[in-house]
Amino acid sequence: MIVDFTRGIVTPESVWRAIILYGANSATYKFAFGQTLLELAAQTQSSTLTLEQLAPRYSELLCQALLREPRQATAGRSKFLDACRSYNDGEISQQELWEATRKLGFVNVVEAFPRLGGTHAPIIFYEDRRQDRAVQGVVLTDEMFALAMALRTDLDAETAARWHLVETAWSTGVTSGLISPVVGVDSDLGILTIGSDARRRAVTGVVPAFNGYQDGRCAYCGEAFEQCGLGPVVEHVLPFVLKKRGWNGPDVDAVWNLVLACEPCNSSKSGRAPHELWMPWLVQRNNDLIRSHHPLRETLMLQTGSTPGERERFVIDAYRAATEALPSVWIPPQVLSTLTTTILGRYRGRA
Ligand SMILES: [Zn+2]
Repeated sequence: MIVDFTRGIVTPESVWRAIILYGANSATYKFAFGQTLLELAAQTQSSTLTLEQLAPRYSELLCQALLREPRQATAGRSKFLDACRSYNDGEISQQELWEATRKLGFVNVVEAFPRLGGTHAPIIFYEDRRQDRAVQGVVLTDEMFALAMALRTDLDAETAARWHLVETAWSTGVTSGLISPVVGVDSDLGILTIGSDARRRAVTGVVPAFNGYQDGRCAYCGEAFEQCGLGPVVEHVLPFVLKKRGWNGPDVDAVWNLVLACEPCNSSKSGRAPHELWMPWLVQRNNDLIRSHHPLRETLMLQTGSTPGERERFVIDAYRAATEALPSVWIPPQVLSTLTTTILGRYRGRA
């Protein structure tokens, strides 16, 4: 259920993204642990990683994060995070930090990391062999190595984007719902901002923050960016040019209306809306983001409605207004192939 954002395709990439992008957030350990696994798997020949080998990079990432943002967990005190703070303050040595990490830092994250919505993820990235005296760590699977070789840079950037969004959402109180939750987009600069108007901060690039939710594929043609090497670019579904035409519909320069596309689709579409047959994709993508407990969730719900029905209505109304102002629409490649299979043969018969 939880990985259906991949449109039914279960691959190591889609499952990894589900763990990082869709899991619950009560602490940011999983981001540090995931990034450490990706980095070490790309460097090592051996499938065994001991806790001793994992500790330096894992604790380094969390120490850096604490310097960036003091809040890295929603619960009260953590002895492990306290050790990281002591190291940052120069009170303990690196050796002592690593020792504390080995003893305290992996207690929950090793078993929690592979869990998705209460069950075990459909692909296994490592076996937990901490109790095995010959290993005292984890044994990486072939899927983990394949992932680390193929997509490391993308996944690193997506992990960092999600991490920054989560910690900034906590520090600005966005997820508490007590202040007006504002996630903004500066599509000229390609950045997301988060916080109330008074405490607005640039968080992260739009591309890595969205890429995982599209499984690294163009919104319009479904090509993997990795393969075609063109893009991704940030795309306004209902075109930005509406703003120059006395538009009084909803803000089109906002998260609900932004997707990632390849360059050919982006330039072919230009200042037009996509064919209406494509629009359910956008509704679904926004529902996926909301269901993922993404920090954008509250912003999206404020912008577009709190139930799936309201959100669909919102998009339909915006689409009608947009296509009244700009009647010519663009047919995305995915829609073209659907239309082709529906129509082909209807006129020529099946003789
Ligand atoms: Zn495309």
